[in-house]
Amino acid sequence: MFVDLTFDPLRFTSLKQEHTGSCLAGDLPGLAAYLHSKQGVVDYTVKGFVNENNMPVIEVTVSAKLDLICQRCLAGLQSNVSSKTRLILVKDEKNLPEVEDEIEGEDVIVTPQTMSLMQLIEEEILLALPITSVHDSEQCHRSDLNLDSANKANPFQVLKNLKS
Ligand SMILES: [Zn+2]
Repeated sequence: MFVDLTFDPLRFTSLKQEHTGSCLAGDLPGLAAYLHSKQGVVDYTVKGFVNENNMPVIEVTVSAKLDLICQRCLAGLQSNVSSKTRLILVKDEKNLPEVEDEIEGEDVIVTPQTMSLMQLIEEEILLALPITSVHDSEQCHRSDLNLDSANKANPFQVLKNLKS
């Protein structure tokens, strides 16, 4: 069971602290809408440091094996998701960059009073989820080419047939 932690981001970065661990996808409520089952595993590292420009940085790295939902047949779809983002903390909105200055993999945000470890992990995974998740056509239970064999392979259909 994943226990959330809230921390003061400035203290976290100045002390160069780090949280590393793993949890089940089902422990992250923000992912529930995207999951076929809660069995996926999420490895995470949240690291604080001060960069070469003397800016506090929170680096979030996630690597997850998730059981997503195929948008064509609604069955489980194993997907690997990994992502890393550096959140650069600034004092106020005046310090936010113009949109064109944004750097891939970096995000400049106004320093919040507290941060939630769980929220950081959830947001990083949500950003990295594929826009559309579907099986390859050979693996999909609803490939239009072989609907018949897909029905045979569907355990719910088999169950239904047994009952009737
Ligand atoms: Zn499918």
